[in-house]
Amino acid sequence: MSQEKILIIGGGLGGLALACRLAKQGNAVEVFERHASVGGRVAQKKVKGYTIDLGPTFMLMPGEFEELFTYCGRDMRDYVPIQRLDPCYRLHFADQTHMDFYSGLPEMLHELKRFAQQDLQGYLNFLAYQQEKYAVVYENFITQPADSLSKIALSPQIFELLNLDGFISMWDHAAKFFSDEHLRLGFSFQSMYLGESPLATPGTYSIIPFVELTQGVWYPTQGIRSIVDGIAKLAKELGVKVHVKAAVQEIIIDEQRRATGIRLENGAIVTADRIVSNLDLPATYVKLIPASKRAIYTDKKVNALKYSSSAFMLFLGVDKDYAQLEHHNVFFCKDYLHNFKQLFDTMEVPQDPSVYVNVPTRTNPKLAPKGKHLLYVLVPVPIRPQRDGKAWDWNLEKEGFADAIITQLEARGLNDLRKHIRMKEVFTPHDWEALGGMHLGSTFGLSPIFFQSSVFRPKQKSEEFKSLYFVGASTHPGSGMPMVLISARTCQQLIQRDSLERNA
Ligand SMILES: Cc1cc2nc3c(=O)[nH]c(=O)nc-3n(C[C@H](O)[C@H](O)[C@H](O)COP(=O)(O)OP(=O)(O)OC[C@H]3O[C@@H](n4cnc5c(N)ncnc54)[C@H](O)[C@@H]3O)c2cc1C
Repeated sequence: MSQEKILIIGGGLGGLALACRLAKQGNAVEVFERHASVGGRVAQKKVKGYTIDLGPTFMLMPGEFEELFTYCGRDMRDYVPIQRLDPCYRLHFADQTHMDFYSGLPEMLHELKRFAQQDLQGYLNFLAYQQEKYAVVYENFITQPADSLSKIALSPQIFELLNLDGFISMWDHAAKFFSDEHLRLGFSFQSMYLGESPLATPGTYSIIPFVELTQGVWYPTQGIRSIVDGIAKLAKELGVKVHVKAAVQEIIIDEQRRATGIRLENGAIVTADRIVSNLDLPATYVKLIPASKRAIYTDKKVNALKYSSSAFMLFLGVDKDYAQLEHHNVFFCKDYLHNFKQLFDTMEVPQDPSVYVNVPTRTNPKLAPKGKHLLYVLVPVPIRPQRDGKAWDWNLEKEGFADAIITQLEARGLNDLRKHIRMKEVFTPHDWEALGGMHLGSTFGLSPIFFQSSVFRPKQKSEEFKSLYFVGASTHPGSGMPMVLISARTCQQLIQRDSLERNA
């Protein structure tokens, strides 16, 4: 492959990973990031001695992270030390029972015997089934560039798979294996990692709990942000030029419908052989390409796509160790199905939501002042929120909502939480929109519903402009850090293929 000049808009995880890969191949790569630091949603903030990772907390599929460093001739552990978490997480149910999920089979079976003995065989059947499915899905769907998927989708194997799980929800899929309602929830709530309800997410995604069991749930010892810092260091070593405070205003499209360069907000124009956008795909079309040039991704089409939920965040520094909390915890509300419907159907800001609580100081005490703990509280909330038929303004409602969540957590056993708070930070969907620039403030990007997954997801190679590509959560294969790293790999393959064709 001859050397090309390639520009990447956005220094999120996907943009940085792709930059490393392309630079390793000998290309001249420049990243343009609008903020003062790279990382996008993998952001960090320091407040009163607390180090707060604002976005991701779960590190799944560590092999995908390792693969990037290995590809670039490095050992990831020299850049990002990681450790395995066991238990992976604790599920706190509304009836005050709790269940731990482990990444060791003996521990998991022991916990199931304690919690729902009658579903033990169902669990073994679930694992055997997911193992077979995972091999097919990973090899044929997830890690293949999206443009070759149409051929694969016609194979009998995939057709069978789609028939089995593509058209059934994760929620209904779980019912095939588990009679206990808690387990049904425990083996389907993982759709919320992608910002979607288990009632709408295809059963194909039920491989997630299998992946957690077999590959583990990991944590970068120095905090999640160290993933981005490690990849940014790697990019620098490979000669990638990273421009910060360099917001892109427009992708320049010529008469032949080829992307030839970018115009920065300061008016500067930079040209290149290829342009990749790491900015959220729907936002790229709407914000960076004039409507008059777009025939497929018109504003109407982009707005008609289905978006994942948004997130309301509360970060609390506390001077008490709540022993019942593991590193990762989910508190399910009483009527969780109603909660999912509020988030995705009625767009109602829930009064009794399910809540995720992360305690990173359980694993790394240095993230808080001595003797204190940091609680990261995430409440999934709808995009375009409303309550009682009225539009909901997060700027007006954020303190009241935060207070209601604290009250709810106290009622769920975090006794006197309010009294023990020494630091409080609120981060609303507006803040997410300002940080990542995601369309409609959808923090997790395009929803993983059937018609937006795999062959149906907007393509990494632009369907209407030559030399324009996409990398990141709203394109193939989907949301979440490991998927975004795979997105960088498949994007690189597409670019390499096009480059070879051009030079043939
Ligand atoms: C609250 C939350 C919790 C999450 N939890 C997890 C988790 O536990 N585990 C997990 O694996 N994943 C998790 N995720 C998902 C994960 O963070 C994302 O899928 C991933 O970080 C997305 O990376 P990206 O490269 O697609 O884009 P982004 O991180 O969105 O990066 C896009 C970049 O483009 C920049 N940009 C935007 N506009 C412009 C412009 N005009 N010019 C130049 N630059 C621009 C942005 O500033 C940003 O840096 C979570 C996400 C959120 C929000």
